[in-house]
Amino acid sequence: MAHTIVTNVCEGVADCVDACPVACIHPGKGANKKGLGFFWINADTCIDCGICLQVCPVQGAILAEERPELQQVG
Ligand code: SF4
Ligand code: SF4
Repeated sequence: MAHTIVTNVCEGVADCVDACPVACIHPGKGANKKGLGFFWINADTCIDCGICLQVCPVQGAILAEERPELQQVG
């Protein structure tokens, strides 16, 4: 299992990127529906530790479950 960044809720703050112990959070290309940059979690390398969810300041941007339909990758 992995955590998920909801592409259109993320505000690109990137607090999660530095906090992730396995560096599996990557910048997405372009902008989301808010017109902001966004990040995505690689489900293949995420260890489901939950640290990103603890540090993210944006309510609902990270989910503690694997929801690939909500997350744009690359
Ligand atoms: S998931 Fe949260 S902490 Fe990570 S980039 Fe998006 S808004 Fe910022
Ligand atoms: S749950 Fe842990 S390993 Fe997975 S993206 Fe968040 S901080 Fe990284």
